[in-house]
Amino acid sequence: MTRAHGELLDAAVRRRFVVRGLVQGVGFRPFVHAAATGLALTGSVRNESGGVVVEVEGPDRAVGEFARVLRADAPPLALVDDVEVTDLAPRGGTGFTIDGSRRRAGGRTPAAPDAATCADCLRELADPADRRYRHPFISCTNCGPRFTIITDLPYDRPATTMAGFPLCPACAGEYADPADRRFHAQPIACPACGPRLEFLGADGSTAAGDDALAAARALLAAGGVVAVKGLGGYHLACIATDETAVATLRRRKRRGDKPFAVMVRDLAAAHALVAVDPLSEALLTGPARPIVLLPRHAGDGPALAPSVAPGNPDLGLLLPYTPVHHLLLGLLDEPASPPLVMTSGNLGGEPIAHDDADARVRLAPLVDGWLGHDRPIAVPCDDSVVRVVDGAVLPLRRSRGYAPLPVPLPFPVRPTLAVGGDLKNTCCLGSGRSAWLSGHVGDMDDLATLAAFDTAERHLEHLTGVTPEHLAADAHPRYRSRAWAVRHAAGRPLRAVQHHHAHVASVLAEHGHTVGPVIGIAFDGTGYGTDGAVWGGEVLVADYRGFQRFAHLRYVPLPGGDAAVRRPYRMALAHLHAAGLAWDADLPPVAACPPVERAALAHQLTTGLGCAPTSSMGRLFDAVSSLLGIRHTVDFEAQAAIELESRSRGVDPAGEELAGPRRTAPSSDRSRRGCRSSGEGAAGRNRAYAFRLVDGAPLVADPGPVLRALVADLRAGVPVEVAGARFHAAVVALVVELARRARAELTLDTVALSGGVFGNALLLAGAAAALRADGFTVLRHRRVPPNDGGLALGQLVVAATLQEEES
Ligand SMILES: [Zn+2]
Ligand SMILES: [Zn+2]
Repeated sequence: MTRAHGELLDAAVRRRFVVRGLVQGVGFRPFVHAAATGLALTGSVRNESGGVVVEVEGPDRAVGEFARVLRADAPPLALVDDVEVTDLAPRGGTGFTIDGSRRRAGGRTPAAPDAATCADCLRELADPADRRYRHPFISCTNCGPRFTIITDLPYDRPATTMAGFPLCPACAGEYADPADRRFHAQPIACPACGPRLEFLGADGSTAAGDDALAAARALLAAGGVVAVKGLGGYHLACIATDETAVATLRRRKRRGDKPFAVMVRDLAAAHALVAVDPLSEALLTGPARPIVLLPRHAGDGPALAPSVAPGNPDLGLLLPYTPVHHLLLGLLDEPASPPLVMTSGNLGGEPIAHDDADARVRLAPLVDGWLGHDRPIAVPCDDSVVRVVDGAVLPLRRSRGYAPLPVPLPFPVRPTLAVGGDLKNTCCLGSGRSAWLSGHVGDMDDLATLAAFDTAERHLEHLTGVTPEHLAADAHPRYRSRAWAVRHAAGRPLRAVQHHHAHVASVLAEHGHTVGPVIGIAFDGTGYGTDGAVWGGEVLVADYRGFQRFAHLRYVPLPGGDAAVRRPYRMALAHLHAAGLAWDADLPPVAACPPVERAALAHQLTTGLGCAPTSSMGRLFDAVSSLLGIRHTVDFEAQAAIELESRSRGVDPAGEELAGPRRTAPSSDRSRRGCRSSGEGAAGRNRAYAFRLVDGAPLVADPGPVLRALVADLRAGVPVEVAGARFHAAVVALVVELARRARAELTLDTVALSGGVFGNALLLAGAAAALRADGFTVLRHRRVPPNDGGLALGQLVVAATLQEEES
């Protein structure tokens, strides 16, 4: 009896597991092989377009244990979405095999993002006894290039840009050995069979291999600028402590004041420059390895050249993520190189150079030499940029290391392509319950960027196997992204999605929100409104289906579009004008505006000539930055607002003791003051600024009282830091007040925060905390950027919802 029972339990069973998710290119088949052979099971594993297919046969108990391990112990870079199990008839056999890939129509398996060099590979890189000692292309199952070298699926070496590098016998042995860390790792190589490092000097000198590296290091040490080929394109590198070198790079790149990212050898070097919290530390050292924005130490520590990030208290920092970077910055037993500026290899605004021939031409005016290699880059991919706000990651640019990880959707969508916006463009493909965003493409303002968009879109279609049947674009009739969609529609329906609705929908989608409308707060610089005005300070009661404009910032004239964006003093004067405040000579923007321009502007604002009405919150931040004398003209988007934020950080808005001598505000100002504005002038102890709410549908938030209080504080000698903190506090209070009104009227209690203005950590953290304290549920971005880099995801879910309803 006992024996029979035992036989029953141990009877051979055969089961098929189809594993879906991020399971190709992450060492999944070797892991399955090890798990199956460890349990003495027979069978096979293979990649298919739909996922990884495993068949195992053996005792019931062992097969059960295998099923558990398959989910619980998956390799570090894998993400298992779903395992489908089918019982099969046992058929015996011996051993466990890894079969070659099979193509099958219909299914798809997401490709993996590029991953930073792992600790094991780094150890081998520095080990003179290892056959890959100082090999600049060392990688394994757990690290190395993926997204940027994959040309097609299923993911196998012939479908990558490593196709031209046949494995040598030693590498082929590792590739075929189930016990090896490089078992079935597609991009592996060694000095015998891998790509070659090459150096080319502007003077025509050349070097290869380790000599190339030495030549590049020597050129850097001599103050040169070197184009370094990375995973997703070329960087421009120079020594970050060498002011002459950094200033030269800045001048050649026509970079203005935009901060450069800095690469340091290790965490210790990072700690020497910036204050690193534990989550930022994990981000700096993790496999995605983005640029992390971190607050610099004041004063002491190794001095970076002033031109690295002029006037900026934050530093964008990253650690080496390829073997070439590690070799450039010095292996752990070598003396460390000083920190390196690592900025995208392009002229301001152009897409990053990734093709070798193109880089040789385009970067020639910028560099003194090139450190490149002969492994092609399939698709350009810029570094990602993140910051930590409130103990959670806030992506500012989602690109290398994240693309093309899918964002899971709250509902299934038909194959759809969303083309995003015109700034910080990314596109997004959706199908089923997944959305794949491209890497950062850039600003859609020249032919090169449009070409980069074509490449990114095609690459994404290849990797996902999704052929879009529907298109979605911004509602702006003059957006180039929308024009691209019109040109490529080929009879497919194209849906226009309002800009701020897309922002709100994107944050809803990444949270998997499904239950009814929310209070969507979308604050950004610019978006085309349904009334033709330039929106940007919007409260939308919204779901995926549609929205109602519940409130907005009061319209002010935006004088001269682009000029108002580039010269915040024009915005400040427009806001002063709208608030009924005189352009007195003591006010910083008045002094900053040349008299002739001031006269023309006054005429424009009174007649409305060449002015579009705008409710932009981004432009209000610009105006306040100029009003406080912080920044009157900008070199890059949001510069004035970023500097306003950094000056206002860590300052108590109550800040009485910080305030200098005061004078009483003019009584004419006081008589016009908004009803909820208090604390103007010297008398009040409550120094809060407040917007005035004008009832109506939609509600209108008038910044006039805030402007008046700011001017009064300026004249009373209140430090600009305190005034800046008070302004931030006023916007936080506005967010809470508008949310309360929406809750009272519509009984909604979920608030979604989106739009580029919420890249402001002080505002985001303040608004989220105040809303939570008032009982609201707060949804903020964690997976895609709040700026237009996340717009395509919102367009996708809105368009897909409407398609569903119409069919
Ligand atoms: Zn590795
Ligand atoms: Zn080899």
